[in-house]
Parts: sequence; structure tokens; C-alpha cells
Amino acid sequence: MLKVENLNVYYGGIHALKGINIEVEEGQIVSIIGSNGAGKSTLLNAISGTVKPKEGVITFRGKRLTRAPYNIVKQGICQVPEGRLIFANLTVRENLMMGAYLRNDKMKIDEDLNTVYDLFPRLQERINQMAGTLSGGEQQMLAMGRGLMSNPNLILLDEPSLGLAPLLVKTIFKIIEDIKKMNKTILLVEQNAYKALSIADRAYVLEQGKIKKQGDAKELLKDGSILESYLGKI
Ligand code: ATP
Repeated sequence: MLKVENLNVYYGGIHALKGINIEVEEGQIVSIIGSNGAGKSTLLNAISGTVKPKEGVITFRGKRLTRAPYNIVKQGICQVPEGRLIFANLTVRENLMMGAYLRNDKMKIDEDLNTVYDLFPRLQERINQMAGTLSGGEQQMLAMGRGLMSNPNLILLDEPSLGLAPLLVKTIFKIIEDIKKMNKTILLVEQNAYKALSIADRAYVLEQGKIKKQGDAKELLKDGSILESYLGKI
């Protein structure tokens, strides 16, 4: 479904991504794990068009992705950014509707809004609350819900568990699995390697801008060097 070939990204003199190749198959959860500064967010930003690669080809369903973020949303890709970037002065409902701004299929929009409320009952309880007053976990839910409102086929999820309490992390990962069951494909960037590998079909380990390991997520979970480097145990 998504293919990234020989992707190279620079920030001035910093070579942030060094010849990255990844593939994401339809209906799968693919996780990218790696430590701080490995280039995980840069990879998602290059796919969503917010960062300009120096070299490389990104294809989605066989067609080369053009870089304009607007086009990318139209093609069925949405990014749920790290740090959430919700609209603090809009209500929960208004934020969700912003996710549907390129759509005009009103009936399906209403249906998707109800699906989001089913996935995140907490949001439904707070539809008229200003988004800036939500807790960190609720803001994460809102960012994910807003992404779903664009009716994407592929969701780019950047660090959804960042800064959340353990119980909420569990809830968010369970919801990611529920979203997969809705026939969505998910490219997940996470520092919580254990959780990310547990729910993924495939995974890539990114280190200093290069893919260090890749393969079946459950196999990587048994890999001693990954356990040591990213899971803090051996
Ligand atoms: P984290 O888990 O800490 O978010 P990451 O794996 O997502 O890290 P990136 O944010 O992609 O890593 O950063 C990769 C490298 O590129 C880092 O060295 C970072 O300092 C650098 N970098 C990222 N964005 C910029 C920018 N806008 N300008 C300059 N350097 C940048």
C-alpha cells in the first residue's frame, strides 16, 4: 500500500534519514521504533509532505505521492502528530469536524462522527468542552478522532502514548487495535517499543537515520538485542 524507497532527508547539515526503505501492507499495523532523535517523526513528516526529502520516492497504492499535504489527505492519508496539535480554542466537536474539512459527504461524516464517539466515549461526554481544557490523554484521543474524521485509509500515528499514564497507554493501544479492525492501515511511531511491537504485524528499528532491523513484530519482540536496547531488559 505504501512504499518508501531510498528516502534521504537533511536539516541543513544534519543527515536525518539515510536511504530509508520501508513497506506497509494494507490492513496491517507497522511500527517504527527507535530512540530519541532516530528520525521517526521525520519519516512520518516526509510521508505526509510536511518535510521535503532531498532524495527518494514515496508511492501510495502504486501512485507517487505529491508533496502538498492537502493532496495527501485527499489521497486517504492522515497524520496524527506528536504533541497532538489540537485547536485549543475550539470545542471537541469543532475539532473533530475540522478533520472532515475536505469532505462533503454529510451522511457519512455523521456516521464517522458516531464511530469516533463509540471508540472514544470520553470525547462524546465532552463535545462542547474547549479542547485546550482536556487532559493530555483526552487530547490524544481528540487528535486520533480528528484524524479518523478525514476517513483515511492510512493513518500515520506519531508517539500516541507520549506522556500518558500506564492505564491510559493501555486504553490507547487497545483503541489502535480497534481502528485496525475498521480496515484501516496504521504506521505507528513509538518509543514504547514493547507496546508497539505487541500490537504490530511488522516493525522497523530506526537508529541514527538508518533502518537497523526489520521483520515480523513478534519475532523482533524475542530479539535479545532489541530487548536490551529498547525495552530496558534482557
Ligand atoms: P523523538 O523520539 O525524540 O521525537 P525522532 O526519532 O522522532 O525523535 P526526529 O524528530 O525525526 O527524531 O529527529 C531526527 C533528527 O533530526 C534529530 O537529530 C533532530 O534534532 C533533527 N531535526 C528534526 N527536526 C529538525 C528541524 N526542524 N531542524 C533541524 N533539525 C531537526
